[in-house]
Amino acid sequence: MSCRSLADRIDALLPQTQCTKCGYDGCRPYADAIADGAAPINRCPPGGDEGIAALSALLDVPALPLDTTRGEPSPLLVARIDEAHCIGCTLCIQACPVDAIVGANKHMHTVLADWCTGCDLCVAPCPVDCIQMVPAGRAWGPHDATVSRQRHRSHLARTERLAADNARLMAPEAAAPSNATTPAPAADDTRNEDRKRSAIESALARARARRNPTQS
Ligand code: SF4
Ligand code: SF4
Ligand code: SF4
Repeated sequence: MSCRSLADRIDALLPQTQCTKCGYDGCRPYADAIADGAAPINRCPPGGDEGIAALSALLDVPALPLDTTRGEPSPLLVARIDEAHCIGCTLCIQACPVDAIVGANKHMHTVLADWCTGCDLCVAPCPVDCIQMVPAGRAWGPHDATVSRQRHRSHLARTERLAADNARLMAPEAAAPSNATTPAPAADDTRNEDRKRSAIESALARARARRNPTQS
């Protein structure tokens, strides 16, 4: 059996929430590490004891108790955005490993609950704490794992494309030759950034005032 096909088989047993609780940047990197003998089989809280038992059987190694320093298993939660408080900063979109949040800059954002894995990676980046994890009212199943694996792959591919585009734009050879009649794009960029920062700061101030009216 090749190392790659072993990693595929391990990955097939992981829940695919892409929560990073195992300490790896998603399920596939953890599967690769297990296949390489670089990680134990008990670091996935969403998989719980059932997942450990499946990995133990596949690899013919003893089952270990779940490493609870990585987190505890829990019923499926999904993210919910308090849209009245959302300032449209897009930070949650950037954090979501399966592109389960839709919204536009400075407009309210919404979670597509069917695609949310409950990973909670969007919660910490939200500057106004308007994302809550709430019970999903259902269990995570094999179909969810299949969909989530595919969505995460698409997310990674899109992220890589964007990074490559940005690298090309930032490369010195991509810079336009200096031309006295052309406005300097760097100055425009700076003004746009200043405007964006200012919009976020005033939205944050408004959000704080709404939450703590006595302190404003
Ligand atoms: S579900 Fe989370 S903890 Fe489990 S392997 Fe995937 S990323 Fe790691
Ligand atoms: S919406 Fe939040 S909790 Fe749901 S998958 Fe995306 S980052 Fe994870
Ligand atoms: S991080 Fe919070 S404030 Fe920013 S877009 Fe997402 S939900 Fe809205």
